[in-house]
Amino acid sequence: MNTLREIGEFGLIAKIRNWMRVSRPEVLRGIGDDVAVIGMGKRSLLITTDILIEGIHFERSWTDPFRLGRKALAVNLSDIAAMGGIPKYFLISIGLPKRLSFSFLSLFFRGLKEEAGRFQVDLIGGDTSRSQKIIINICLIGDGEKRELLFRNGARVGDDLYVSGTLGEAALGLKILQDKKLKRKSKRLIERHLAPTPRIQLGQTLAKKNLPSAMIDVSDGLLIDASHILEESRVGARIWEDRIPLSGVYRKWVNIYSKDPYRIALDGGEDYELLFAAPKKNRTGILSLARSLKTPLTRIGEVLPEKEGFSLIGKEGEKIPLKRLGFDHFK
Ligand code: ADP
Ligand code: MG
Repeated sequence: MNTLREIGEFGLIAKIRNWMRVSRPEVLRGIGDDVAVIGMGKRSLLITTDILIEGIHFERSWTDPFRLGRKALAVNLSDIAAMGGIPKYFLISIGLPKRLSFSFLSLFFRGLKEEAGRFQVDLIGGDTSRSQKIIINICLIGDGEKRELLFRNGARVGDDLYVSGTLGEAALGLKILQDKKLKRKSKRLIERHLAPTPRIQLGQTLAKKNLPSAMIDVSDGLLIDASHILEESRVGARIWEDRIPLSGVYRKWVNIYSKDPYRIALDGGEDYELLFAAPKKNRTGILSLARSLKTPLTRIGEVLPEKEGFSLIGKEGEKIPLKRLGFDHFK
């Protein structure tokens, strides 16, 4: 019998997509993008949801409730950023163990409130239940100008591929958090894991200026999230390994956990940067936007015909085999 282990998280989602099928014509995007998109005249409603489970996404021993509150919302905000949308309202459903301290919850909601205030989103409801472990599910609602929204499926052969910021810090921060032997730890790397910053302003500006052809946020890892753009757009691509943007602090710490300095940046999750494809004619526009927002936007690859597949290119121009693309909950 097949189990989830064989079909994997993304295999299961593909099945669900097939079982359930969309019938309403106003559903512009259902399963398969960062958020669901419902057409409403010139604007579209954006809806996304994400779950955080104790023991899977976080441990009570190494997260603090304030940052957990911020992160629970941030991971949803990042999906709206990936569409170039404006986040507005959210619902939160929580499962809580009976013995959880009240101070944990009040700190959690303080963090949630801070993140909500920062991005001007309002809590409008939710649900509460007892559970064995802490479970947090947020459903975030936003909107955007219909013709500005950026989907996963718009990449075209010949487009460039860009990524914002630097990669791998959050995954490295998690390794450091989990490492019991390590005496000195990097605050900055741990912070990127515990309190990621969603790229809301960057997403909206890219969309407004109509620079990308497709966009996704990097939540599961650069390679796997790139592969989602490629699948939805039915194209191939190559990414140049030595173009992957790495920060100084990442370079300093990465050799503790990996001989290959790029590995964690390529398949580590939770950076919440934006990955996008854009036509070559937009290169100067993208450069000047990076300068005006003071956000690095690095050209890391190019889109190829589907039959060329997806490859990673090393320094000497050699093809590096892609074994594991990134995080899958069941594999
Ligand atoms: P993201 O990393 O951007 O949050 P996911 O990889 O979690 O996206 O999900 C990919 C797509 O599959 C999204 O469109 C999401 O809405 C959909 N999806 C994930 N899990 C389920 C599910 N259990 N039922 C229906 N759709 C799902
Ligand atoms: Mg996403």
